[in-house]
Amino acid sequence: MSAPSLPENRFAPFRLIQTAAFILFASVSIAIAMDLIEAARRFGYVWSIPLVAIAAYASADLLSGIVHFLADNFGSPDTPFLGKAFVMPFRDHHTNPEGILEHPFMIANGNNCLISTPPLLAIVFFVPVTTSVAGYLFAAYSLFLCIGVLLTNQFHKWAHMPSPSRAVRWLQDKGIVLSKEHHDVHHMSPFDTYYCITTGWWNPLLQRLGLFEKVIALFRRPPLSSTRETSR
Ligand SMILES: [Zn+2]
Ligand SMILES: [Zn+2]
Repeated sequence: MSAPSLPENRFAPFRLIQTAAFILFASVSIAIAMDLIEAARRFGYVWSIPLVAIAAYASADLLSGIVHFLADNFGSPDTPFLGKAFVMPFRDHHTNPEGILEHPFMIANGNNCLISTPPLLAIVFFVPVTTSVAGYLFAAYSLFLCIGVLLTNQFHKWAHMPSPSRAVRWLQDKGIVLSKEHHDVHHMSPFDTYYCITTGWWNPLLQRLGLFEKVIALFRRPPLSSTRETSR
């Protein structure tokens, strides 16, 4: 997931929670990674881990697109719970795209860290990572997915930098992270395509399928009763 961050002053009351979430995310990730090493020793399948990582990373990109699409098209900044945290940052980002560059790492990525930490905690408490192959592979997938989600807004921020570092530019040129040229497509009014913002891998396919347009058409179709009224 991938809400662009709110300006620092609006987030000030949440700084402590975000910092705690970062510490927790790092600690839990290390704990899961250690379990994964133990599981790899026990079960093998080490060759599958890079494939799992790529699948999880691609999933993070798809997830970023779905969340971004929902925040851009449904609800309002006044929607309870999600309005201020998700809808408003995405809508603000269209009117002030460069604002994201003013946010330091903790502010830019705090929201995604808060979202990614609970699933990792669930893995620690409920998934048999070291005693089952399925648990081992599921935990590996989940860990890479959560890392992808956590990094999404950082990649999004890099895509707005006029002159990112050479290393970032290399990652963007290779398509490993979202590039400015790719993301610029979304920032053209009416902001209705190219929603994925981790790598953007899914964007061309989703645009070709017209999936998001179909969802909008489905939900914004006038109720059947009003159609009958007008057809009389
Ligand atoms: Zn948008
Ligand atoms: Zn953007």
